[in-house]
Amino acid sequence: MTEFTAFRGEHDGTVKQSVGRVDNLGNKDVLMKLTHAGLCFTDVHYIEAGIALGHEPVAKVVQVGNDVRHIAVGDTVGYGYNHGACDDCDECRLGNDTLCNERRMYGEVDTDFGGFGEYAKLHERFVHKIPEGMAPEHAAPLQCAGATVFAPFLKHDIKPIHRVGVIGIGGLGHLALQVANKWGCSVGAFTTSENKVAEAKSFGAHDVIVTKRADGKSFVPENDADKFDFIICSVSSQVPWDDYFDCLRPRGQIIPLGVDFGKFETNRYF
Ligand SMILES: [Zn+2]
Ligand SMILES: [Zn+2]
Repeated sequence: MTEFTAFRGEHDGTVKQSVGRVDNLGNKDVLMKLTHAGLCFTDVHYIEAGIALGHEPVAKVVQVGNDVRHIAVGDTVGYGYNHGACDDCDECRLGNDTLCNERRMYGEVDTDFGGFGEYAKLHERFVHKIPEGMAPEHAAPLQCAGATVFAPFLKHDIKPIHRVGVIGIGGLGHLALQVANKWGCSVGAFTTSENKVAEAKSFGAHDVIVTKRADGKSFVPENDADKFDFIICSVSSQVPWDDYFDCLRPRGQIIPLGVDFGKFETNRYF
């Protein structure tokens, strides 16, 4: 058992230095010394849980178990929100390990192994190499926010011929705009603020729709060509869903990524 420094959220809502512990390596385990970590709003949700915060870590591998095959000492690696799964159920076999009944998620397990700690130990299958040439400080936010906005492109089969809208230009939204642009899509950004138009374009939006208009008119595009095949909602609050449904092309989809604890309400029943 080795002790190290970890920064935990406390019950009073502050973050304090504390002690983390890591025990001996299993045959498939990887021991990492953490170097960088992003901040995600989910850390705020967990700030009173007493866990080592941070789930966007990048690290150097310092030791590997005897049967580790894909990761080596000295590799720069990252790991995500899910720390493990059974690897044998239908969902795992379909690549949906976050839906596995035996999933091991941030906040529930490995509560010493947050990104704001010195060390972490994970099974090698849940550790991945950071590509050479990518700065660790750029890789860190991709471990949660980047993965969150990239997943819909694979899961929903978003293609370069599609027009993609992104609601909100914040932690998730600025990455979603970049992914959609690089994926080859026509990209529109939705923002409440005129002040964010230039910023949204700098991240890859081809056009920007300001939803709170000075003239009080609807922000829904008049022409079908300007409407969307997919709208990715990156904000953690309710938005005027009916208006966004009206922004969709036939068979269009809205993909909500942010967490809000209110009801999802709409009057659009098509
Ligand atoms: Zn996160
Ligand atoms: Zn499983």
